[in-house]
Amino acid sequence: MNALVWFRRDLRADDHAALFHALKHHERVFCAFVLDTDILDALPRADRRVEFIVDALRVLDADLAALAPGAGLIVRHGTAREQIPALAAELGVDALYFNHDDEPDALRRDADVGATLLARGVQVESFKDHVVFERSEILTGSRKPYGVFTPYKNAWLREINPFFLSSYPVGRYAAHLAEAPPRGVPSLGDIGFEPAGLAAALSGGSAGAQRLFDEFLERIDRYGDARDFPAAKGPSYLSTHLRFGTISIRRLAREAWTRAYAPTGGQAVSAGAQVWLSELIWRDFYHQVLHHHPQVVGGAFRPEYDRIAWADGPDADADFEAWCQGRTGYPLVDAAMHQINETGYMHNRLRMVVASFLIKDLGIDWRRGEAYFAEKLIDFDLAANNGGWQWASSSGCDAQPYFRIFNPVNQSEKFDPDGKFIKRYLPQLAKLPPKLIHAPWLAKPAELAACGIVLGRDYPEPVVRHETARMATMARYAVVKDRTFPDA
Ligand code: FAD
Repeated sequence: MNALVWFRRDLRADDHAALFHALKHHERVFCAFVLDTDILDALPRADRRVEFIVDALRVLDADLAALAPGAGLIVRHGTAREQIPALAAELGVDALYFNHDDEPDALRRDADVGATLLARGVQVESFKDHVVFERSEILTGSRKPYGVFTPYKNAWLREINPFFLSSYPVGRYAAHLAEAPPRGVPSLGDIGFEPAGLAAALSGGSAGAQRLFDEFLERIDRYGDARDFPAAKGPSYLSTHLRFGTISIRRLAREAWTRAYAPTGGQAVSAGAQVWLSELIWRDFYHQVLHHHPQVVGGAFRPEYDRIAWADGPDADADFEAWCQGRTGYPLVDAAMHQINETGYMHNRLRMVVASFLIKDLGIDWRRGEAYFAEKLIDFDLAANNGGWQWASSSGCDAQPYFRIFNPVNQSEKFDPDGKFIKRYLPQLAKLPPKLIHAPWLAKPAELAACGIVLGRDYPEPVVRHETARMATMARYAVVKDRTFPDA
């Protein structure tokens, strides 16, 4: 009995649900990945995600070979809808195994591939792997999905036990891995892409993820204090690895849960690990929101927020461009946008700040920001990105209230007090002292001149005044409270 394991957002050879089950139940197991042209054709030719994937595939291929002589990854370039059934026929497999991907497009793709194979008598098996609890595993007492995070998290913590966090011991059945046809992993050039400048910290596939995690464990206890300061090495930087599954969520959550709630060997309870585990639970939360409410793709979770009339026309387009390019005149916002543009990553605090700025200072539809992040972020994940944007626009599940509007200057003073992060991405402001760097337009021209800056020449004037924008936003959002609308 032969099986094919189709890898997607699970690019590792250890603790892998589908691979484990396939190896356990089949004598010869082939492993494959499709560089899917349905996705790749829409991307720019230099894309950090594609570079990350190709790098991770090379490591996965080597890791499979290390598990069993001659084993390896079969990589195809084409549409998954055609390539997977074709490969299944070529290899003569009796079963296809893969892990769940709950994004709407992926579900449609998997349903199509599954239907083709089932019609040919090939068994199709799929598994939870990407999250700790998926779909309807955590429900309220009345069997409804949670819409508020804290009770969801409490239920998650009540439900969790070592069973849900244990690894799938792939190595136990590694002898069932079949020899892979000797074609290897294509290079970026082979598939029509070019290097995009992937940060060294993100290279190395699953081995790179393990390195990052080991490093993070040395500072996890301080995570709660450090995570909000973008100039500090506070968070784990594991989001891209989680997105592509180069590290197992069970491995991460097990370590965090143990340190947070069940420390072993005389360790103290780690407050940092508790906060970090909460972030991993947010990840599960947003995935279950997407599963239960797929209409959040393209629309507000709370439909009344779709009545808001967003700014549009040439002025709004110019503001949007200034935001994208980091030219708003608000240094923290601009430095953050330089971070995403130059590295493909943005610190979580800054994601909240720039999202709030776009929506509530510039009055621009959150969907435009969501789409920009989707294009730029290496860790782009539909569920988390949509959840983050709907949180910032107040239209989402457990979002911040619409009248809570971040003041971008206060955020800057609080979370980058010395302007260290700002200066990293806006070197033209390097000479500004902390008291001037957060709102340069409030400085006297002579003070700016002493630092070599003329506003409008070296750094932009602010595109909007926060106080004015705040009033406009309150007026714009009043529509969500308008009871004369029939659906209010
Ligand atoms: P850490 O602080 O180390 O957190 C550990 C992990 O927990 C992260 O890697 C991530 O998987 C998860 N996580 C943390 N915060 C959140 C959150 N708020 N929601 C869901 N999961 C979370 N995260 C993405 O992975 N992809 C996205 O496309 C994405 N878009 C976002 C857009 C906006 C507007 C906002 C406000 C947040 C977004 N986030 C997204 C969540 C968060 O900003 C990133 O997960 C985090 O910054 C990644 O850095 P890290 O791995 O160092 O995080």
